[in-house]
Amino acid sequence: MTDNELKNDSAVEAGSDSSARTHFIEDIIAEDNKTGRFGGRVHTRFPPEPNGYLHIGHAKSICLNFGLALDYGGKCNLRFDDTNPTKEEVEYVESIMNDVRWLGFDWEDRLFYASDYFDQLYEWAVQLIKAGKAYVDHLNADEIREHRGTLTQPGKDSPYRNRSVEENLDLFQRMKNGEFPDGTCVLRAKIDMTSPNLNLRDPVMYRILHATHHRTGDKWCIYPMYDWAHGESDSIEGITHSICTLEFEDHRPLYEWFVENLNIYRPQQIEFARLNLTYTIMSKRKLIRLVQEKHVRGWDDPRMSTLSGMRRRGYPPEAIRAFCDMIGLAKSNSVADFAMLEYCVRQHLNKVATRVMAVLNPLRVVLTNYPEGQVDELDAVNNPEDPSAGTRKVPFSRVLYIDRDDFMENPPSKFYRLSPGREVRLRYGYFIKCEEVIKDEAGNIIELRCTYDPTTRGGEAPDGRKVKATIHWVSAAHALDAEVRVYEHLFTRPDPNSDDEGKDFTAYINPNSLQVLAGCKVEPSLKDAAPGSRYQFERLGYFCVDPDSQGSTLVFNRTVTLRDEWAKLQKSQPS
Ligand code: ATP
Ligand code: MG
Repeated sequence: MTDNELKNDSAVEAGSDSSARTHFIEDIIAEDNKTGRFGGRVHTRFPPEPNGYLHIGHAKSICLNFGLALDYGGKCNLRFDDTNPTKEEVEYVESIMNDVRWLGFDWEDRLFYASDYFDQLYEWAVQLIKAGKAYVDHLNADEIREHRGTLTQPGKDSPYRNRSVEENLDLFQRMKNGEFPDGTCVLRAKIDMTSPNLNLRDPVMYRILHATHHRTGDKWCIYPMYDWAHGESDSIEGITHSICTLEFEDHRPLYEWFVENLNIYRPQQIEFARLNLTYTIMSKRKLIRLVQEKHVRGWDDPRMSTLSGMRRRGYPPEAIRAFCDMIGLAKSNSVADFAMLEYCVRQHLNKVATRVMAVLNPLRVVLTNYPEGQVDELDAVNNPEDPSAGTRKVPFSRVLYIDRDDFMENPPSKFYRLSPGREVRLRYGYFIKCEEVIKDEAGNIIELRCTYDPTTRGGEAPDGRKVKATIHWVSAAHALDAEVRVYEHLFTRPDPNSDDEGKDFTAYINPNSLQVLAGCKVEPSLKDAAPGSRYQFERLGYFCVDPDSQGSTLVFNRTVTLRDEWAKLQKSQPS
């Protein structure tokens, strides 16, 4: 997709559609506004680490942070938390910006990088050393871990803990100057090795890493740890509410220790429960493996939980935003049902997607009483949910394709579609009746000979006789060729992370997650359908044009079926 298409895609302004009910972060903001803690300001940030593509969990955080800013007339920054040069890449930075824009949010002129603050962070570290609140430690990583103690046992002081300020300043400067190889020593905050909170047991602030950074190049060979960089970056940017996921709750005292001891502006860290989804993996470490081990075709494979994958699959940004709103905000972890996300996708596409006819598994139908060479242009409704979408002409002719599923030679009693001697309605067309079944030598059905009733144009018989089914079709001479990619969950179990059997999550990859249907036929109105356009194939589901479409063959991804599993679930489990 081009940038322009991305922008058009999200032309509908994002904002929280939530009703009057408020969630706990809104309550906190209301309280802060009452006490005047931040002078009525609301300034949030979305702080991705550019070490992978964004996934649906990040969408929750993006909608929350940008949504709050919109709701309160505040601001939201995009800040790359780029403190680990070994895992970060420019490709990720660009994809992240693309995805945030696509979701419909705008950081305006507030694009920041934690690496912009490396000089300031260094100065602040020196300040802490001078105050006797940080020291250079020569214990190695294992020794530091041993000294840290456990939840039940206090830690032990490092033998280097009581170095003089002068020695620490000298060593820290030499760390920065590149005099020591990786791993020689670290800078640690001097807090309390007996604190019940392990994060306060002299956490590491800087490590030596002789690595080239995507923005600062080789300027630095010491890099700040997350806890040291994050709150300070928030403070520099004047963030009011620093929203993060639950696992950082125990880091909050450290966040506060740093800003208090530096005596700088104090943002408020607030934790919420991360989004988890059934049948879905969200850890970037695991997503990278799916890509690198070629379990999927790339980061934007439509089976991925990444926003680029969901975009390619055909999920509209409005649906993702609606989903993030619908799941609400919690303080304890839970797992959302994938069917709920699909419900939101369907809800939105039902309103906006043009209906077309497509045949995925074509069976040739010859209308023996229809004149050769004649073409009837039938009127078809583009979207019954949206009268302004108008109508289009669909060509009808002597040879058609219908879906094989819509015919049975020996139908069971509940099958009402086409079968020998049976009459059905063709969508927007006529009644047809199956007169003869043609088979090849092996006994496979290759063609149906049918007659049509010219008096039933428009779908009703003047004599009042009824048919029990309406099926879709395309005109063989006019149809376009298409490949359709049908997806199922990428994993065979709702929680692919669970390893109670000691298995790796890749053991649960669904071998049937992608089924490629070649030789599909779609109606000719799709001739110029651009990659990214979404349609409802009548009776089959929603489909999105894939960028792999080439020349005269269109490629579609099945976005979602028409079956609403979520509504079914809701009915079977009254809350
Ligand atoms: P991952 O575990 O996928 O690598 P991360 O937390 O390390 O995720 P970051 O790039 O650091 O990834 O995340 C950026 C922001 O998105 C953080 O504020 C983080 O809390 C938030 N975030 C990440 N995953 C989720 C999730 N599943 N639900 C809600 N917010 C999330
Ligand atoms: Mg992170």
